[in-house]
Amino acid sequence: MARQAGEDDPGPQGCVRATDAVIRDTLRSWWGFDTLRPLQHEAIAAAAAGRDSLVVLPTGGGKSLCYQLPPLLDQTTDVVISPLVSLMKDQVDALEAIGYPAAAIHAGLSMEQRRDIYDRLRGGDLRLLFTAPERLFNTGLLDTLGSVGISRINIDEAHCISQWGHDFRPEYRQLAALRERFPQASVHAFTATATPRVREDIAAQLQLRQPETLVGIFDRPNLTYRVVPRTDKAGQTLEILGRHAGEASIVYCISRRETEDLAARLTAAGLLAHPYHAGLEARQRHRTQEAFAKETIDVVVATVAFGMGIDRSNVRLVLHTALPKSLEAYQQETGRAGRDGLAAECVLLYSAADVFSWESLIRRGMDAAELDEEEASALIDSQLAHLHQMRRYAQAARCRHAALSEYFGQAYEQPTCGGCDVCLGETQNLPDSHVTAQKIISCVARVGERFGVRHVSEVLRGAKTAAIQRHGHQQVSTYGLLAELDQRTCENLIHQLLDQDYLSRSGGDRPVITLNARSWQVLRDEREVILLEPRLKKTVRSRSDADDWEGVDRDLFERLRQWRRRIADQRGKPAWTIVDDRALRSIAREKPTSPAALLRCRGIGEKRLADHGAAILDIVVGAS
Ligand code: ADP
Ligand code: ZN
Repeated sequence: MARQAGEDDPGPQGCVRATDAVIRDTLRSWWGFDTLRPLQHEAIAAAAAGRDSLVVLPTGGGKSLCYQLPPLLDQTTDVVISPLVSLMKDQVDALEAIGYPAAAIHAGLSMEQRRDIYDRLRGGDLRLLFTAPERLFNTGLLDTLGSVGISRINIDEAHCISQWGHDFRPEYRQLAALRERFPQASVHAFTATATPRVREDIAAQLQLRQPETLVGIFDRPNLTYRVVPRTDKAGQTLEILGRHAGEASIVYCISRRETEDLAARLTAAGLLAHPYHAGLEARQRHRTQEAFAKETIDVVVATVAFGMGIDRSNVRLVLHTALPKSLEAYQQETGRAGRDGLAAECVLLYSAADVFSWESLIRRGMDAAELDEEEASALIDSQLAHLHQMRRYAQAARCRHAALSEYFGQAYEQPTCGGCDVCLGETQNLPDSHVTAQKIISCVARVGERFGVRHVSEVLRGAKTAAIQRHGHQQVSTYGLLAELDQRTCENLIHQLLDQDYLSRSGGDRPVITLNARSWQVLRDEREVILLEPRLKKTVRSRSDADDWEGVDRDLFERLRQWRRRIADQRGKPAWTIVDDRALRSIAREKPTSPAALLRCRGIGEKRLADHGAAILDIVVGAS
């Protein structure tokens, strides 16, 4: 049985209690944090005791600390396996900023850099070595690690090992061999998203020995979720970004083209926005990542290629302009908002058309993957199931926090979350939903169930297109019945009916809409249809955002941010690794005037005090 955060703690044993104080001191002096987050203590205690573990914490839950802290306790050398180079580099940067001896071995290193790392490794000077699975097995690294003697093997993004997961990576399968190769080392698996089935698979594949299984609470109370019908992508994006002027935002699109077009629109509107996708030149991608990290740009318009390596902790908005392909992906991508624990917003612009785009992408992806037929069809089924879970989330008018928690196997107890469009009463039903639905369904019947969304919509609106003329559709009784709607709104309503299964849609390249049994029930008034108002309602920023600013001197905060941007630029490091937003707000609230007072501010440890104390105190004193 997995332990969950919030469960009654059985109480640490004597030996663990002895290390409690050491853990606290280490946390305080290296990181400047006062308390551990839920389950971090249990994870660190298991690692310290050399017991295998499986740690499932949501993005932003603080997994890294669970493997960063233990090697400091007894000066061991530990390994972290991570799927992406950018992910490792960010972490090593952040660790170096607090003077922590860590390094990453990857293909981008020069001979000299590599030799230096091997020297430090052999000399026992490294606490953490990061590497990717393919590096580990295809180079002499394993032998070196064997001679050095490693204490713990940490597997980050461990769900990649499972084919039941949403992000299976064949190269992760090789990690099973580590157990035999290093029988004396303990193995620790970390992931942000794992349904119970995937969890079991991870433990089996890695041959974990009676692992301490720790499952965190998935809910992220500081995030406000909204799902908004998409009627005008660029216009809606601009409006939503307007609520976050000068703040970090990530805008996700499905295709590379879209990211470039939208970034151009935003730039034209005066925003500091860059596109990001895997098709861009490595140098350009790198520049954008750096600019975002150093806070010289506010907005990145990206495909899902962006983010794995982005740890900027003060992202205040994650906007999806289209449906993600799974709730796992959604949880992970929205998880990049508000990692500092301060209020942040996640908006999904949804249109049922996205489901169809994904379906065809999934099928085409299989063609390219060269799998045998059985494998391909199993993988397609699994991906379609993930997709339809996502669709149901977007389309249901129920609490978003509750829906997400329950998907990851956790009951959500609160009757209302206060942090989603549904609970905040922002979603609005279309007046006359039922009658409008009947008009649409009748029109589908009148045109003989032989046309697609666009044409049906044009007939309903009474448009004068060549196709309507050719088929004589200006004669049908439903022609012009919804003349008051614009095309986008009308298409959106048809998609809502498809989503709720009140209409069906054929497959193929030129899909047509048809009636089903439920359509007839609606026409006979045996079922009541509720449609959501597709037009965007003005939303206000949530209350918790104001709470996070309580007592903060905003001018001082801005001045500190400018200073941080300068330092980040000089050092070529991400701004948040210098000092994060939460720490800056804490300083701008407490206005410390002495090093001792500064040390009491959140996120300021001894290393940061030594590095930046004087500069920060100057700014604070200068401002008062
Ligand atoms: P994850 O890997 O689980 O997504 P991270 O390890 O990147 O999350 O942690 C997210 C943020 O929380 C980081 O900025 C980290 O410095 C911060 N953090 C982690 N543990 C603590 C703690 N005990 N107290 C305060 N901040 C913490
Ligand atoms: Zn809610």
